Amino acid sequence: MAVFVYKFGGTSVGSVERIKAVAEKIKKSTELGNHIVVVVSAMSGETNRLTGLAKEMQAQPNSREMDVLLSTGEQVTMSLLSMALHDLDCPACSYTGGQVKILTDSMHTKARIIEIDDVKIKQDLDQGKVVVVAGFQGIDEHGNITTLGRGGSDTTAVALAAALKADECHIYTDVDGVYTTDPRVEPKARRLDKITFEEMLELASLGSKVLQIRAVEFAGKYNVALRVLSSFKEGCGTLITYEESQMERALISGIAFNRDEAKLTITGVPDLPGVASKILCPVADKNIEVDMIIQNIAADETTDFTFTVHRNDYQKSKQVLEETCKELGAKQVTGDDSIVKVSIVGVGMRSHAGIASTMFKVLADEGINIRMISTSEIKISVVVDEKYLELAVRALHKAFDLEKEEE
Ligand code: ASP
Ligand code: MG
Repeated sequence: MAVFVYKFGGTSVGSVERIKAVAEKIKKSTELGNHIVVVVSAMSGETNRLTGLAKEMQAQPNSREMDVLLSTGEQVTMSLLSMALHDLDCPACSYTGGQVKILTDSMHTKARIIEIDDVKIKQDLDQGKVVVVAGFQGIDEHGNITTLGRGGSDTTAVALAAALKADECHIYTDVDGVYTTDPRVEPKARRLDKITFEEMLELASLGSKVLQIRAVEFAGKYNVALRVLSSFKEGCGTLITYEESQMERALISGIAFNRDEAKLTITGVPDLPGVASKILCPVADKNIEVDMIIQNIAADETTDFTFTVHRNDYQKSKQVLEETCKELGAKQVTGDDSIVKVSIVGVGMRSHAGIASTMFKVLADEGINIRMISTSEIKISVVVDEKYLELAVRALHKAFDLEKEEE
């Protein structure tokens, strides 16, 4: 008998009707003889609503209490879904993260799963029940409720699939799979049948919002076959695996982009040991995450240093950098918060030369100025002016042959 973990997120369980539709889907699967564990997240908008309430109480809500509050969203969905299943004469039982015992560390609002006790779940499955588990939450060793960070239900689902050695973990969402790029930017974007964990991880960290990054990491680590598919229409979605598809052997699998970028430059920095850390440590001390980092070759014993941050952190980073500039006796700080990052990703890059030059030529032909470049084994990212985002994505999508066939 096959064991599946299904995860249904916000919009898929956004109303009573949607929850009933999900119950029908689950019932059909059990009728095929499958054992089903369902992970649900809060009804759409609920986690934001609860966060809003908390902020009305306390500007910086107490993180332990925040977890107590946020975990209620998932508890509503799990019980309603279980009721809908009972109504269809499908035996079901719902559990909070604490009840099945999803043990996490104590980092409230961004806890990590340490261990899952699957005894109760297995007993229920053996008795022919559908087990419904609240996503996004766990319990720490002291019995405190914890949550796993926004979008954390994906991680719950993958972790349960790993613990139960499930045949597949299905993430049902409002899109029918992973696309070559965001169809809202390029309508010719194509759904991929398969993608590797590495590629998915790059796409997720570079801005694709289909899956939570940690869920992909987890799935890769425990080799959980992960499938993204639509809860609204039939289809086989996209399978994320270790296998590289021979059929679809493309050089590039997808194009990701991130609009929330900003860059900062400090010029005329003395070229001495320890300078990079003197620039970046004060930024890190303010809890600001730095992404791309570029340092120039020193021409006259001084160098220029550029890095990118999330756009929300732009002003704060600039202030920090102005201070550092004075301390180091550097020349000046400049910045730009209307830039974006566009990246191409593909394992095919490993065995093919010339992908970068093709990318740069395509952008040049469109008159797009590249402001920064960074590469890894399977991705190339460029920073360009915000106004070129759509143009860059579409031009690259076409050049790397990602378009769907004309219907
Ligand atoms: N309800 C949580 C959130 O909105 C967890 C999830 O959706 O996966 O982030
Ligand atoms: Mg979600």
